[in-house]
Amino acid sequence: MLAIVAVPQTNRVLCQQPGCQHSVYAAIHVVDEGGQLLALGSRCFAKRYGSAKALGQPLHAGASGSGRPLSDEERQLLIDNTAELIERFKVEAERARAEAAAKLQALRARAAAQHQGQPKMTFLERMEKLSQSREQPSQPAERPLAASNRPWAWQHPRNTSVAVLTDPQGQHWVRVQHFDGSQKLAPWPVFDGWDEALPPSCGHPDEDLQAYSVPNIVATLTKLGSMGFSAPKVGNWSEVRPKSP
Ligand SMILES: [Zn+2]
Repeated sequence: MLAIVAVPQTNRVLCQQPGCQHSVYAAIHVVDEGGQLLALGSRCFAKRYGSAKALGQPLHAGASGSGRPLSDEERQLLIDNTAELIERFKVEAERARAEAAAKLQALRARAAAQHQGQPKMTFLERMEKLSQSREQPSQPAERPLAASNRPWAWQHPRNTSVAVLTDPQGQHWVRVQHFDGSQKLAPWPVFDGWDEALPPSCGHPDEDLQAYSVPNIVATLTKLGSMGFSAPKVGNWSEVRPKSP
């Protein structure tokens, strides 16, 4: 079966089943019978092939079950040159397929571009995320921070995730990202002698910031770990702030 088509009721065409004199319009079944194209009324189609569904879905038009409406020109083609009409259906379907494929490709390209636009996690963030997922399986969703929840005036406005480590004496240290993008280690709370507490290889104390400037945070966290510091707890300050100083 090639197609199921429809023409206006006022402009019916003759069923091409031999001997049938009915004019048909709503669901004209176009079939290829050994190279000869026939346009049949649905009742003659069912009679000729045994049932309405005998030949399966139409190949080119009308697969939805209702006949594809024909323009006046197409109706004339159905009568004069059915093969030409079917050829047009093929071209039409090919174009629709190509358009659908192009649309899909555009969607995929856009999705890929969006994906690439997302900032990649740094090695440090991945490392902290890993320890976070091990230590704190249920983190509350990130919320915007109130100013009171940000003890460091110089903290980066968006990269607000911090990491809390505790040294063997119970003193807390917080990795905080500076608004210039660099990493700092701030004592929490600040205590006398904080600026001499960490080995020089970790960084140098910045009295203005009340924190160490840490050139290589990954190496420093590794070093602190080897000195008996706890694994970093990562999150926004309101989530990871130590309960007792
Ligand atoms: Zn008929």
